[in-house]
Amino acid sequence: MFCTLPAPAALINGHSYLALRDWGRANGFSRSYACSRDTAIFTNRYSKVIFEKDSHVAEINGINVALSFPVAEDKGEFLIAQMDAGKTLEPLVFPWKADDNKISTIAIDPGHGGKDPGNRVGWHSEKTYTLLLATELSQQLKKAGFKTMLTRTKDQYVDLDDRPNLANRHRADLFVSLHFNATASGKDRVSGAETYCITPVGASSSNAGGAGASYSRTLANSVETESLLLAFEVQKALVKNLGATDRSVRRARFAVLRDAKMPAILVESGYMTHPTEGKKIYTPAYRRQIAAAIVKGILDYQRLTQPATKFSKSK
Ligand SMILES: [Zn+2]
Repeated sequence: MFCTLPAPAALINGHSYLALRDWGRANGFSRSYACSRDTAIFTNRYSKVIFEKDSHVAEINGINVALSFPVAEDKGEFLIAQMDAGKTLEPLVFPWKADDNKISTIAIDPGHGGKDPGNRVGWHSEKTYTLLLATELSQQLKKAGFKTMLTRTKDQYVDLDDRPNLANRHRADLFVSLHFNATASGKDRVSGAETYCITPVGASSSNAGGAGASYSRTLANSVETESLLLAFEVQKALVKNLGATDRSVRRARFAVLRDAKMPAILVESGYMTHPTEGKKIYTPAYRRQIAAAIVKGILDYQRLTQPATKFSKSK
């Protein structure tokens, strides 16, 4: 069945929407997309994007990515918010423009610390495992040829605002904040990885309400496209390498992301509350795997953003 439908731009809840059919055509996607009542699939030689009616998530090349506004449908026509087309789809489905910013120093932020234990499950505190993972990640990144700096190296309280500021002062080129998740309900059910990057100006965050509901511009918005791509590559590596449930690339104006001048992400690499995933998080072997996945994501991001450097070096 074809979704051959008219494509007027619509205004839904005050937000400008585009017809996906027009978006696909304008952006070189094959017109022979498949669709059902609730799902539309767009493919071209390089990309496959799956949209679901009313969903806040699109699947882009096999990875779930949060949208700022839900996919809408009108008389069988799928519509997407203009902001999502520009700020989320296009940076991920089109060839990346090379930039000259070399990645040499990577800031690693072990979440929580000191008086802030983070999530607690039994006698396990999140702050312990974020520091252990940070140390492992630092070693692996150094082996891969990067310099690293940690926002804390011991069980110490560091203000949320100070963390990106430390990275700014060290002129780090990337910022990676490490966390582990927990849930109060559905402990047996809820597992998997999430990777956050800054919310575009004017959009809602994935963690609705609270501080995330503010629409204002932050320092991090100046590199939001790079942050999204970094989040995508790291999330992809986590899902593929760990076999973890894909809880999607998400958006939030977290204090640790807001003030970063460099591409910045926050990784929730698993659930401490899940009976099997939780136990794995407490083992060095699994943390080595998590670290290896994050390194792979960073290397893939580097390859995409700096093809010129890569090719000239290999000559
Ligand atoms: Zn945390």
